[in-house]
Amino acid sequence: MEMLGLYLSVPFCRSKCTYCNFASNVFPASYHDRYISRIENDLSSIRKRAKQWGAILPQAVDSIYFGGGTPSLLSPAQFRRLFTTVRREFAVLPTAEVTVECAPGQIEPAVLEALAECGVTRVSFGVQSFVDSEAKAIGRLHNRAVALEDIRRVQAAGIGDVSVDLIAGLPGQTLDSWYESLGVLADSGVDHASIYMLEVDDESRLGRELLVNGGRYRAKEVPDDDRIAEFYTEAVASLAGHGLAQYEISNFSRTDCESRHNLKYWRRQPYLGFGLDAHSMVRTHSGAAMRFGTTDDLDAYLKDPGWVDPRPLDREEEMEEAWFLGLRLNEGVSLGALRQEFSASAVRDFLSTIAELEDEGLAAFFDGDRVTLTPRGRLLSNEVFGRFLAEPAVA
Ligand code: SF4
Repeated sequence: MEMLGLYLSVPFCRSKCTYCNFASNVFPASYHDRYISRIENDLSSIRKRAKQWGAILPQAVDSIYFGGGTPSLLSPAQFRRLFTTVRREFAVLPTAEVTVECAPGQIEPAVLEALAECGVTRVSFGVQSFVDSEAKAIGRLHNRAVALEDIRRVQAAGIGDVSVDLIAGLPGQTLDSWYESLGVLADSGVDHASIYMLEVDDESRLGRELLVNGGRYRAKEVPDDDRIAEFYTEAVASLAGHGLAQYEISNFSRTDCESRHNLKYWRRQPYLGFGLDAHSMVRTHSGAAMRFGTTDDLDAYLKDPGWVDPRPLDREEEMEEAWFLGLRLNEGVSLGALRQEFSASAVRDFLSTIAELEDEGLAAFFDGDRVTLTPRGRLLSNEVFGRFLAEPAVA
């Protein structure tokens, strides 16, 4: 039976990190209650809306993910309200994975207590670097000691599953300092890690500084692409050596500690996103994937009761997604499963692309059925995924 995932976006942050281009910001606390009320309305009305759009929502929820932003800035009362509404509107399984993203140094004791009481099972920490000067340069408000202490506090509160995010390519980062961060992560004993390669976006403060050649955020000290690729490759090997195996381009875990919620995105399983700039994917009665989202403008979101553009994907779009989402995973894409879902001829249309990627050392076959990216393919994944767009129409 297919299960549903719920994503709740909390776009509030205490300060804006220099590299960040998310729809998050430092909003006055007066927004928080209005925002929670708005999400509660959406949680209560989504079944009716989905019915109008011809979408099917599975009854049972087996994953909830609070992302941001910094969800740990919500008050205990706001968390309790949201969990009460979620459990009233959806059948949340007792075994559901319930994740909350937290910023180290920004979890009040009463919030931690409320998270444990509300059934949170997993915390994902945006550490980014365990080297204090690097964390400071990007505007994080914690240092290594605070991050390690918060990991311990969360586990002591009974929330056993902890993930840590690191970024490869921060200003001033060197191979030695990168090894230092990886070593601290491994020693912390967490069972999940996400490693992102820094991409400087023009919309971030770091990106704008690069454009005007400024010096405030140390943009000129961002390592070059080859260096960042080297950091990433070292991380894959180092984490594997500490029992954290790669299962997705940016994600690593101990056995059975993969993020159930995030796997839904890559396996094209249904999820609903609530709050600012949140995305959803559900199925229609005919089985087609339907995607929709919300605005990334907070004032507009608070005023406007609508989801933007509910639209079923056509078969061609679904097939493209099956490739570029599935290939993110180390388990790869099963040709047999694709033939069953689409058709043998539809899959055949992509075989020449796969053969090209194989020739270039970017993809490989295994077990005679699965296609997976090679380590080099993962480094060049954006280029690889581009090859799956605009293929011939699916029969
Ligand atoms: S905490 Fe996360 S969402 Fe908030 S500014 Fe920093 S990177 Fe962006």
